[in-house]
Parts: sequence; structure tokens; C-alpha cells
Amino acid sequence: MSIDNARFPLPPECRAMIRAGALVVLNHSGGKDSQAMTILLSRAVPRAQLVAVHAPLGEVEWPGTIEHIEATLPMGVPLILAPVASGKTLLERVEERGLWPSSKARWCTSDFKTGPIQRELRRYLRAHPRFGGRLVNTMGMRAAESPARARKAPWRRNDRMSVADREVFDWLPVFELSTDDVFSVIRDAGQSPHWAYAAGMSRLSCSFCILASRTDLRRAAELRPDLYRTYAELERRIGHTLSPTRRPLPEVTGVPLAAHDDSDDLGCLNGR
Ligand code: SF4
Repeated sequence: MSIDNARFPLPPECRAMIRAGALVVLNHSGGKDSQAMTILLSRAVPRAQLVAVHAPLGEVEWPGTIEHIEATLPMGVPLILAPVASGKTLLERVEERGLWPSSKARWCTSDFKTGPIQRELRRYLRAHPRFGGRLVNTMGMRAAESPARARKAPWRRNDRMSVADREVFDWLPVFELSTDDVFSVIRDAGQSPHWAYAAGMSRLSCSFCILASRTDLRRAAELRPDLYRTYAELERRIGHTLSPTRRPLPEVTGVPLAAHDDSDDLGCLNGR
């Protein structure tokens, strides 16, 4: 099924912002929803007004994520990487806190994604005055993903980022699309989603996400045995589990830990 303009409507305020020359930011996780959103927006917004942004999470995100974003971005659309300023990894922060993030305390998202991305967007707007401080911040959330997401407003002013000389709106362009629609958009554009989907993952979050289903955790454990062991050992050290069920990962997934491989550790020490 192809997505026509009637099913991909631009809110009137959004049209006005684009006509006024606003910067339109594609928040790109590397996942299918971001990818479909990028394809659709690249047809609706002048390329000179588009920029993509990604918060890289290092070893905890799926290998090849940044390469996948780069390979599927429309020609001429720059990619901004927004790493965390402290240089600390997510797993280092978990170890320091002695706790995993949770659905109620999602500091992983605020500290490692939202915060660094907002910092980079403020910088980008300051460095490019031609956008007049106008910014449309697009994200690939969809109503079909969860009841909480379905309650979100697809277009709203971002009061936190809007100040005297900066006007920011958040927009969810693929809010109404189904999962099938999203894969169709990608296929019809002649692209493929990130390899992890074909390998059996339903989402492209962190490989082991605090919000992941048991099925996804199990598949991730099979696909990334070394990282799985790292997570399980961290759970043991801090005495706190990633899963809100308070069961350790090997019990949740049913996947035994891979034997410890010393040659791998040597490779790490050598910066391989
Ligand atoms: S993908 Fe999951 S674990 Fe990773 S930052 Fe987002 S909510 Fe946290």
C-alpha cells in the first residue's frame, strides 16, 4: 500500500513553519519508524531545511545503526551525532547508580538521548541563523505502539525549548501509520530496514531495553551473547535487574550465558 497525501497530512501550522523557512529535524534512532518518517518528509520538505540527529549509545545500540542511518538518509541531508557530554557509557552510569533505569525513571532517555539532542539542536540553530530560530522537531512515534503513545498530541509547541528568539514545535508525522504501513513505505522507497528486524527483533532500541518484551530480550541474547553476558554480570554485581519483574536476564530469556572468552577480553584491552 502506498501512503498518499491524505494519509500523511501536514498540520497547517507545520506548513506555515516550513514556508517561513524553519529547520525540520529528523530524530533518527535507526529504527523503521524513523526511517519511514525520513522517506516521507524528504518528499514534503525542501532538503535545505532538513537535518537528521542521532544520539549514539555505543556498544548498547545495535551494530551498524549509524551506518544504516547514513546509508538511508536522502542525499544532502546532514547527520548530527549527539553523544552524551560526560563521555560515560550507559552501563557505566548504571554501575555508578547501582540501579537500572525504569519506565518511571527513564534517565537513560533523558540523559543519553533527549538532553544531548537538544544541546546539539540549540548549537545548530545558533550556527545557522537563516532558520530564524524556527524548528520543527519530528519523531517517529506511532499511536499503534502503546496506549500511552496513542494519547500523545501529534503536533504541539515545545515549551521547554522555545525561548524569546527560538520557536520549537514537536511533530509526530507517522503517528497514524500502522506497522505494515511503515514497512511498506520503506519497501516502496527501495530501501531495507536495519538488519536486526530480519534477525527477529520487533524494535530497534538499545539491544537490551528496559521496555523490551521477553521475546525481544531472548532474541537479543541469542544475537549478542557477549553483550548479554556483560548485562547479566552487571545485574549480579549491583544486585538489581534490568527487568521490572525483578528476575535476572538469564531467567527472563531462558538463554544460558556464553562461556567467558579470555581472548575477547585481550582484544578489548588492545582496542580492537
Ligand atoms: S532504548 Fe530503552 S534502555 Fe535504551 S535509552 Fe531508550 S528506554 Fe532506555
